[in-house]
Amino acid sequence: MKRKILVLFLLLSLFSSFSASGCTGFTASNNNKTLVGNNEDWCDPFTFISVYPPSEGSYGRIYFEAPWPPLSDSPDYLTSFGGMNDQGLFYDQFSHPYLEPRNSIDKPIFPGELDTYCLEKCATVNEVLEIYNQYNLYFLHSEQQLWIDRTGASVIIEGDDIIYKEGDFQVVTNFLHSHPELGGYMNAFGRYNTVVGMLENMTDLSVNYFKSVCNETHSDDFTWSTKYSNICDLNNGIVYLYYYHDFEKCVQMNLSEEFQNGPHSYFLPLLFEPGDNLPPAKPSAPTGEISGKPKDDYKYRVKKTIDPNGDNIMYLFDWGDGTNSGWIPPTIKNNIIAKHSWNEKGVYEIKVKARDIYGAESEWSDPLVISMPKNMSLYLSLFRFFDNHPHLFSLLKRILNLSFNNFEEII
Ligand code: CA
Repeated sequence: MKRKILVLFLLLSLFSSFSASGCTGFTASNNNKTLVGNNEDWCDPFTFISVYPPSEGSYGRIYFEAPWPPLSDSPDYLTSFGGMNDQGLFYDQFSHPYLEPRNSIDKPIFPGELDTYCLEKCATVNEVLEIYNQYNLYFLHSEQQLWIDRTGASVIIEGDDIIYKEGDFQVVTNFLHSHPELGGYMNAFGRYNTVVGMLENMTDLSVNYFKSVCNETHSDDFTWSTKYSNICDLNNGIVYLYYYHDFEKCVQMNLSEEFQNGPHSYFLPLLFEPGDNLPPAKPSAPTGEISGKPKDDYKYRVKKTIDPNGDNIMYLFDWGDGTNSGWIPPTIKNNIIAKHSWNEKGVYEIKVKARDIYGAESEWSDPLVISMPKNMSLYLSLFRFFDNHPHLFSLLKRILNLSFNNFEEII
């Protein structure tokens, strides 16, 4: 049991290291309509949507899922960070500065993901609160959750504190309403005030107006930009999707129609990929130290390549030892840098490939050959030199043969 808790703690700690992201969520309702808007500001654009039709004891539902670890070339699994069910219940989560919930410390840990379980079993916000009240909420130390149902009831669960909706709308970004003094991430207070101002002045509760709020508060941050936005009509079971803060193109998803097709999932970027999409051009070979010592870290760079469609690109370094860097976005100065250390002595080939935001991949670059340890570098340099100048290699061979023959003659 202790081991399980340790593993859980390590996973949660890992999550908190990725949690310096943004996100904006808001809901508004009138007598017969409840809408939710959400910008997902996350580092990894490769979101999946999983659809589970209703079955005995379980409501039909969809989950928004992210590869874990983020930006991995071969993720261990998908983790849910939001969803909606056929009862019109919705949730999403929002990172915030670390604050450990203390009031549930003696309660049992739920054996699984509490939020996905509630979306499967609950129809209302009150039912969710009843279940959350039974369990340890340690997992909310760096994230808060927004839960909304079709009646318009909504809460922000901050661990120790439940923030209830007051009035016609509720807004959440990336600071704790119960502890604003802890600060927030990525202009959290500015985005919050913008949404509140727009909802206070709203004259028409509509998908179009919610779209304008999402557009006004989306993130352009190079790494943590808004990867997708969703607007959900909780009374009619419709999800309006937008990709990479492009609010011109919308994909609609009707939950009852989706459930008729059985369990299935979507790779969200493919729903938006243009028919004429092309992969990025082959990157140039990476550059950096060509020799070194095992266990030491070395930095490698690659020049930015071109995407024919002008799409954003990420890069992956293959280190030649069976591992890779994961997908790396360029820095704000357009540098693409990755760090690695090799455990074993040997000669390795480092290669790079590029991927656009729809998942189309380039060819691998030519390799950079490196050696570990340093004393192999002279041979490697000679090998490279003669590989590039084969005529010099023939000449050297002739000289050596001549010397050898003369030596025999002398003897
Ligand atoms: Ca492209």
